[in-house]
Amino acid sequence: MNSQEDHASGSPRPAGQKETAQDLSSTHVTHVREDVAMAGRCANVHLPTGRTCTLPARHPGSCNFVGPEDAEDVAVH
Ligand SMILES: [Zn+2]
Repeated sequence: MNSQEDHASGSPRPAGQKETAQDLSSTHVTHVREDVAMAGRCANVHLPTGRTCTLPARHPGSCNFVGPEDAEDVAVH
């Protein structure tokens, strides 16, 4: 059968179909320390300070950033 698209050849395609459904999870905007993430931790890095969140992955609430020494403690090497 003839497809409907052939009949409506004059209709312009909406070119401005942007992907608004972006992943807004925090991992998208922050850096994640891989060796800490491998330990099952959140591992978000607070870029201005370079500190790392060592709370469990997907922990509720906000991150608790700790210094490099504490991050090393939980990191997988
Ligand atoms: Zn965190």
